[in-house]
Amino acid sequence: MKIILLGAPNSGKGTLSANLNKALGFIGVSTGDLLRKEIASGSELGKHISSLTSAGKLVETETVITLMQNYINSLPKDANLMFDGFPRSVEQAKMLENIADIDAVLFLDVDEKTIMERALGRITCPKCGQIYNRAWYKLDTCEKCGEKLVVRSDDNEESVKNRIVVYKNSTYPLIDYYTSAGLLERIDAGKDAQNTLEQALKILKCIEAKQ
Ligand code: AMP
Repeated sequence: MKIILLGAPNSGKGTLSANLNKALGFIGVSTGDLLRKEIASGSELGKHISSLTSAGKLVETETVITLMQNYINSLPKDANLMFDGFPRSVEQAKMLENIADIDAVLFLDVDEKTIMERALGRITCPKCGQIYNRAWYKLDTCEKCGEKLVVRSDDNEESVKNRIVVYKNSTYPLIDYYTSAGLLERIDAGKDAQNTLEQALKILKCIEAKQ
């Protein structure tokens, strides 16, 4: 099965992706993570990507697709995939149709105030990608691998505001796009991660039963 996790920045896509991986073995294809890996490599391309992501701007689609395609090619052909952070525009959605047949789009619906609160409390593990929030996690190190947690460079107020504007202009139209395609499944993602996971599992069970 191939699904898309769609939602505003900080709607909980990364956390749901980690939880669906644990529950059902789905493999997350996070374009944000792939871009951060390229930045960490210190390459010229990474420096260029960093100048865009730290300002909350979108990276060129061509670059994102190349990194994503290389990653997908490294996975087993029959793997269950979750696209996280891709597509971010209708243009990217049309390109994805040449790469994978999508079974469902899980739209994580959260209001803007919650998104801002989550963004400004988010801390992540640079080694394993685990996401925590200052609101409920009080340690400085990752509970999985002991690495020192960091604040993402794009989790500052100005960048988050920019990312929300970009989301409204470029990504929001995908809700209509995937509703028309009969693929959109709405999840109320304003509660906790467990609640979001339970809704997602229910939806995926229904889809599997229909196939
Ligand atoms: P994320 O981890 O999904 O929040 O992505 C972090 C940043 O990476 C975004 O704010 C964009 O700058 C960039 N990015 C991630 N996915 C894409 C994409 N599909 N197209 C363009 N830029 C992207």
